[in-house]
Amino acid sequence: MPILRLTDETIGKIAAGEVVERPVSVVKELVENSIDAAAREISVAIEAGGSVLIQVTDDGAGMGPDELSAAIERHGTSKLTSFEDLSTLTTLGFRGEALPSIAAISRFSVRSRPPGHDAGAEVIVEHGLVRPVRAVAMPPGTVVTVRDLFGNVPARRAFLRQPGTEATYIGRMIGAYASAYPGIRFRLTHDGRQVLATDGQGDQASIAIAIHGPDFAGGILPLPALESALAVPGVSVSGWVGLPSLTKSHRQAMHFFVNGRWIQHRALGFALEEAYHSLLMVGRHPVATIHLTLDPAAVDVNVHPTKAEVRFHDERAAARAVQRTAHAALAGAPRDRLPTVSWERPLNRSDDHSRPLPMAIPTLPSLPPADPPPVDHGPAHRTEHPSGLPMLRVLGQIGASFIIAEGPAGMYLIDQHAAHERVLFERIMGQLAGQQVDRQPLLEPMVIDLTPEQLAMCDRSRDELAAIGFEVDSFGDGAVVVRSVPAMARGGNLAGRFRAILDELVSGGNGTSWLEAVAISTACHTSIRAGQPLSIPEMRELVADLERSEHPRACGHGRPTMIHLTQDEMARQFSRR
Ligand code: ADP
Ligand code: MG
Repeated sequence: MPILRLTDETIGKIAAGEVVERPVSVVKELVENSIDAAAREISVAIEAGGSVLIQVTDDGAGMGPDELSAAIERHGTSKLTSFEDLSTLTTLGFRGEALPSIAAISRFSVRSRPPGHDAGAEVIVEHGLVRPVRAVAMPPGTVVTVRDLFGNVPARRAFLRQPGTEATYIGRMIGAYASAYPGIRFRLTHDGRQVLATDGQGDQASIAIAIHGPDFAGGILPLPALESALAVPGVSVSGWVGLPSLTKSHRQAMHFFVNGRWIQHRALGFALEEAYHSLLMVGRHPVATIHLTLDPAAVDVNVHPTKAEVRFHDERAAARAVQRTAHAALAGAPRDRLPTVSWERPLNRSDDHSRPLPMAIPTLPSLPPADPPPVDHGPAHRTEHPSGLPMLRVLGQIGASFIIAEGPAGMYLIDQHAAHERVLFERIMGQLAGQQVDRQPLLEPMVIDLTPEQLAMCDRSRDELAAIGFEVDSFGDGAVVVRSVPAMARGGNLAGRFRAILDELVSGGNGTSWLEAVAISTACHTSIRAGQPLSIPEMRELVADLERSEHPRACGHGRPTMIHLTQDEMARQFSRR
């Protein structure tokens, strides 16, 4: 078959297909260019979701007439001179593809004037056909106008969604950049109506309100700097996370920026949601703007046609840094700002009694101040502990994992592992505060083989482990010898439990200090497991311990220890109300 060379027009359209998927892709490229040009003000106007008009105006560095011609050439860029520059790149653009690509599939013009020039220059490109540059009068800065996007690529145009939907994508993208660059004034109008405006004063909170609405007044938690033991070398994390009560039903309000670049990254999303633990109801997702700053050489930005994804050299380190920082912000939030959880869930109230009973109780967040109004039994019948948990009567065990108990205000289903973990965690922390740790010397010290990762973690955490009751010495050849364990540690396989503690710490740990992280892991891995049958007296003891604990409703990891079904709720579930 004869092999023909494609025409420039066809090459241009094909290349554009990679960069420009829909109107938001165009807006993103143009906004990134304005940010690279150090603009302080970026205005975006769109019509009909961007398919009729996209216009981006900035007050940045601008381009002179010669630069203007070069800018619309394929691979014309001022940001990169060699491939090696990629490893030190600080700009958002680098391929020199955006302007020619957009110009190939629209009626396009750029007008630009650097601040030092007397006049501006304009170049018009009609579906890839470049007209001569001419002088125009304009204020300093750059205006890019894109009309009739995909006018000559009907297949692409047919895939566009409703204008309102395309405008929503654009609004989210601008919102992301506006919250990441609080020092830049952003404005977005759709069909002449203002959709979003920020003031460029640098105040995160007021920008969150401008983007996410008035609920966000007081609704953001700035990310703190991590204490040095928790910090992840080479990655620093800043920005903010929303209160757990201010969630969305989608993941599009979790914005991640890597060295200033807006990216999508599943692992970072998971890490963030992990930090919220059970503070989120099922199907709800956090709102956040998170910046990761790392050496440009530690991240590959050249892996995606629209630069929407990056590859970290150490993805787990990046995820860990996000998880720990967000966790620290949430852990530091005053308690009264954590969510009040209503146990209400929309029940199907039809009279169809053949329907399975709606006993699927919502996945419950931890820390719910969900106590019912106190039941007054008179002073002789004090039914509540200072913890706020009423005295409970143990009824039995389900699946060797959950304890059923009754209280004055309904039924409690207690996760035996999480409950014991909470009890042990508080006991460890209490002992640490009182500086007297019950350690149990082992008659025969245990020699435990460790992987190199576990060994390194053991070394790093030696002081914390000792404070909690583990006396550990190195035994050489990848092994350690454990001479004592916390007195409360129960059950067999201590070596396995010790390794599990180290593994959890290797994968990041939880808590606001390293000591707390070690305590949480120790409590988790030395406590009663799920699947362990318990006698009624054992369950009573555990529940009594839980009642006495300070925060009985969540384990050290933040998972709930119990589900509470009130009498009212039961009546409702059985359609008695
Ligand atoms: P890239 O951003 O990858 O360099 P683009 O095609 O997006 O490629 O832009 C080409 C060049 O045009 C840029 O390198 C920059 O020098 C110039 N440019 C584009 N937009 C602007 C703008 N808004 N202000 C100033 N210069 C711009
Ligand atoms: Mg660019």
